[in-house]
Amino acid sequence: MYRNRRKVCWICGASVKPSDNYCVVCAVTVTRESLTKAAQYGRIASHSPEAEVRRSETQRRHHAAKRAWRPSDLPDWLNEQVYREKIQPRLAEVTVPAISTALGVSGPYATDIRAGKRRPHPRHWKSCSGYRSSTAAS
Ligand SMILES: [Zn+2]
Repeated sequence: MYRNRRKVCWICGASVKPSDNYCVVCAVTVTRESLTKAAQYGRIASHSPEAEVRRSETQRRHHAAKRAWRPSDLPDWLNEQVYREKIQPRLAEVTVPAISTALGVSGPYATDIRAGKRRPHPRHWKSCSGYRSSTAAS
């Protein structure tokens, strides 16, 4: 019984492997076109008025929070050394999304904070110190 139906390219009709929808030549075109389209959509989305407004509002909030902050807002026990030696190492027990949400920072920035590559603004230190390991009692 002959059941092996010949499969052809959707665009030009050349015969293709049973697993493929396009021949090699057309596949290149199709892939390039869909990539270009996706890139265009991405650009449009990130430059939409809504996205611009969101971005500038986030920046304004961050700047306002920084301006409003005073070193005296830090509790006596909390200083750069305490952050570095006591708080930062504990962030390894906290997930990146949790840090990102608590501090209102981006995922990549939260990742760097967690890894100790960046030190968040002092106004964030207290939120960081609020984390407690589920196993440690102190
Ligand atoms: Zn083709």
